[in-house]
Amino acid sequence: MLAQEIKFLPGVGPKRAAILTQELKITTVAELIYYFPYKYIDRTKFYKIREINETLPFIQIKGVITSLETIGEGRSQRMVANFYDGENHMELVWFRGIKFVKATLKMNFPYIIFGKPTEFNNRWKLVHPELEEVLAETEKKEGYIQPFYNTSEKMKSNFLVSKSIQKFQYNALQLCKGKIKETLPDWLIDQLKLMPLETALINIHFPLDPVTLRKAEMRLKFEELFYIQLKLLHLKHERQNKFKGHIFKEVGSHFNDFFHNHLPFELTGAQKRVIKEIRKDTLAGKQMNRLLQGDVGSGKTMVALMISLIAMDNGFQACMMAPTEILAMQHHQSVMKLIGDLPVTVRLLTGSTKKSERLVIHKELLDGSLNLLIGTHALLEDIVEFKNLGFVVIDEQHRFGVMQRARLWRKNFIPPHILVMTATPIPRTLAMTVYGDLDVSVIDELPPGRKPIRTFHYYDNRRGELNQFIRKEIAQGRQVYIVFPLIKESEKLDFKNLEEGFEQLRIAFPLPEYRISMVHGKMKPAAKEEEMRRFKNHETHILVATTVIEVGVDVPNASVMVIESTERFGLSQLHQLRGRVGRGADQSYCILMSSVKLSHESRQRIETMVATNDGFEIAEADMRLRGPGDLEGTQQSGLAFDLRISNLAKDGQILQYARDKAEEILDSDPLLHNNENTILVRQMMALRKNHLNWGAIS
Ligand code: ADP
Ligand code: MG
Repeated sequence: MLAQEIKFLPGVGPKRAAILTQELKITTVAELIYYFPYKYIDRTKFYKIREINETLPFIQIKGVITSLETIGEGRSQRMVANFYDGENHMELVWFRGIKFVKATLKMNFPYIIFGKPTEFNNRWKLVHPELEEVLAETEKKEGYIQPFYNTSEKMKSNFLVSKSIQKFQYNALQLCKGKIKETLPDWLIDQLKLMPLETALINIHFPLDPVTLRKAEMRLKFEELFYIQLKLLHLKHERQNKFKGHIFKEVGSHFNDFFHNHLPFELTGAQKRVIKEIRKDTLAGKQMNRLLQGDVGSGKTMVALMISLIAMDNGFQACMMAPTEILAMQHHQSVMKLIGDLPVTVRLLTGSTKKSERLVIHKELLDGSLNLLIGTHALLEDIVEFKNLGFVVIDEQHRFGVMQRARLWRKNFIPPHILVMTATPIPRTLAMTVYGDLDVSVIDELPPGRKPIRTFHYYDNRRGELNQFIRKEIAQGRQVYIVFPLIKESEKLDFKNLEEGFEQLRIAFPLPEYRISMVHGKMKPAAKEEEMRRFKNHETHILVATTVIEVGVDVPNASVMVIESTERFGLSQLHQLRGRVGRGADQSYCILMSSVKLSHESRQRIETMVATNDGFEIAEADMRLRGPGDLEGTQQSGLAFDLRISNLAKDGQILQYARDKAEEILDSDPLLHNNENTILVRQMMALRKNHLNWGAIS
């Protein structure tokens, strides 16, 4: 029944089936049943006008319309109805479709009005309410929870609306009644007191009441998250059984010499803790796959370097891979500076490394005399062969695809330990799902002595003040970043573009007193590097740029980050940009410029930035605002997947619960060979294809 093609379902037919397939990818009855409502409206409760308050998302009220009038002219024309619930009056307002509504509304006739109340001049109104006449029939239907299904424009134009889907669901569930097989083991259902699958599916489409609906959601969410976790953890176990890991037994002279004679500062508590976590992994005889999260400037590179030294102490080579040439160079420079006269060989390999130098690198890698190789994607090429690669660091992970990371595994017979570092914090729930088979370490502490960056939001009309402020900072010897969102915006949109901004800056900051560098994505790499170099060497005061500076560049003397058209940036991007300042001892500032007209979401993003410097808080806010699907780091990594019912921003607790359960099961039955667990294996295998790659993460 469940596998039956959708076109045979009563009420559907071939034409509508084709649209359902095209628009919603629904081809079978099962796929239809697993197409869940995106929201419900509780129509079990009727309100009175006096009960309306700002916490109610939707309300329905019974009453009559006592008068109707059209106000205003042209575009500001609107129709206002007076609605009376037997106690109080309120206004219903229409801006569109006035003629139609006017022609159909009946005076002093009982209606159920339905909608989202808005407050205006201290009075509640319903704008464009849904109206239902109270007839004998509606009286019968009264008091139910109405599901809403997403439909596309194309569906709507073919009269396939939410209500149509609801009818199909009804027919589908009738057809399958008593035939839907349970997908979780009985013991688990008993133990967790979950609702049986069939009951849950019926109630997700036709909720009996709010409490039953919640139980149905709980059951389906748990199942969805549970199987993802089971799969990820299962893969992790499998991998750990399949691949042995190098053992870094010694802490030897490289590490000790560095620690005692070169380390220029005390490690933070968080750095020490993470080093310990990694030490434990590298002693366990299993391959490490660890994600290291830490805000910009939290000292991840130092951790990576110290573990690299331990790898060397045990006769292994290490490599560090960065997403851009500039970053790789910077890593190379700072590592060289840190290790000083330590007897280790470190080299840089990027796309622009000269052939003669490459040959040396290839040779030294093979004979083992090269200890640490730092570079870009160039490291991945097959020609880059190591004698004995033991430890790999991948910086700014989200810029690398899964496949690229998997190539690193093959660079040694026993795969190297892998540390993936990211400065784009990922909310915990997302990390658990997207990187669920990686272990996660967090550096949640900045080195001491850093002054928190102060962030301000200015509307564009305060540009004069901004320029004054920039001049003052420059006079004190500081440098300034000014970032624009785009190079050339289409003319219709009136966003400031880089070139225009540059012209204006030239006027506000004239030569010879002020020198400005400009960097953007359309420049040749060499020209870009040259401009960056000039800024880095303090030959220029201001760096005007598009987001190319988002990742990398370390200029401790830069103390001001101005972001233009802030509303055009995502939260995590803004946070990354802000991280470019605050690297020195001086007070740093981030100024967010925007137009006065801001959408609600842009305003919230800006408010979040002003309110906190904490990358994790920002990541959580970002997830709340945008939903997890859009978060940076999930899409590029090729791990995007859709959840049918769970929401990682809201269902963190269920997720944790599901993960704990999965872990518990795998602990007691690692291969899932117990009879009572065969259902788990079957369901896990049935998880859609795009989940299957997860084993190859990093
Ligand atoms: P991340 O890679 O996490 O952005 P880095 O490793 O580049 O951070 O460190 C940022 C700066 O802080 C570097 O200049 C580094 O030398 C310095 N640093 C790292 N750890 C400490 C520490 N424990 N105390 C003081 N400064 C530190
Ligand atoms: Mg870094």
